[in-house]
Amino acid sequence: MSERISTPKRTKEIIEKYGFYFKKNFGQNFLIDSNVLDNIVESAGVTEDDFVFEIGPGIGSLTQVIAENAKGVLAIEIDTNLIPILKDTLSDYDNVEIINQDVLKVDLNSLIEEKNNGKPVKVVANLPYYITTPIIMELLEKKLNISSITVMVQKEVAERMQAGPKNKEYGALSVAVQYYCDASIDIIVQPSCFMPRPKVASAVITLKLLDKPKIDVKDEELFFKVVKCAFGQRRKTLMNSLFNQGGFNISKEDLTEIIKSCNLDEKVRGEALSLSDFGNISDKIYDYLHR
Ligand code: SAM
Repeated sequence: MSERISTPKRTKEIIEKYGFYFKKNFGQNFLIDSNVLDNIVESAGVTEDDFVFEIGPGIGSLTQVIAENAKGVLAIEIDTNLIPILKDTLSDYDNVEIINQDVLKVDLNSLIEEKNNGKPVKVVANLPYYITTPIIMELLEKKLNISSITVMVQKEVAERMQAGPKNKEYGALSVAVQYYCDASIDIIVQPSCFMPRPKVASAVITLKLLDKPKIDVKDEELFFKVVKCAFGQRRKTLMNSLFNQGGFNISKEDLTEIIKSCNLDEKVRGEALSLSDFGNISDKIYDYLHR
């Protein structure tokens, strides 16, 4: 086992050696607490049978711990300045590959199939907070061959993923996560565990991808359209949101009938709907459009 990259002393040495400066716009808050890194890898249940995709390796603090436990790691880093640093800090590990790319622009599907011979991979990351939601949505909606996602996010975002109807945190992200996964918050992490310190507390959350979504819907694309539409205008009634934003070409009267036929009040707001309510509404819209 090599010396940990993550100690505050070593992190400072690496940063000074390369004259590296943190870029706020890339969400660069590096972990400097070895226990937290161990906790992340433990929560992800990484074993030597696992191939792990990491998003944003930074200077390699988490990558190192994953590499010591997994069969292999592919880490995708957007910041070109970090690539020579990673080559240096991770030179002892022959099971690590680094790609200098934007994770939202790579063909994750092909990479995953190629790197683990068609077997599911695990995603483990301390995510850049400015794009947490787009990354999670991308990982879920693209139906990638992933068995679990263990990520550090803002505590509030972790809570949002688990929130239910009528909670102010409940939104399209909550529905997507709960449709595809079982989610559990593993640990809460204080700002002092990062360099530089973020303003808010963070949490590690594990999303276990289900073999099949929690509810059956007739048309998944339509289901997510209804969900995004319902939360796009939170203060409006569901009927008005669907009428104004849905583009379904269904009259207000017929939308009201559809809503009432799902045992919901005609004035209900989207934020009051459970996962299965959303499923019922989208199935009824599907039937209406295919009648
Ligand atoms: N894993 C390291 C750690 O725990 O110390 C760094 C985590 S830091 C919160 C987020 C990392 O994601 C940074 O290294 C940042 O440059 C990288 N990043 C930001 N946007 C990215 C993107 N679109 N694609 C890939 N990496 C990105």
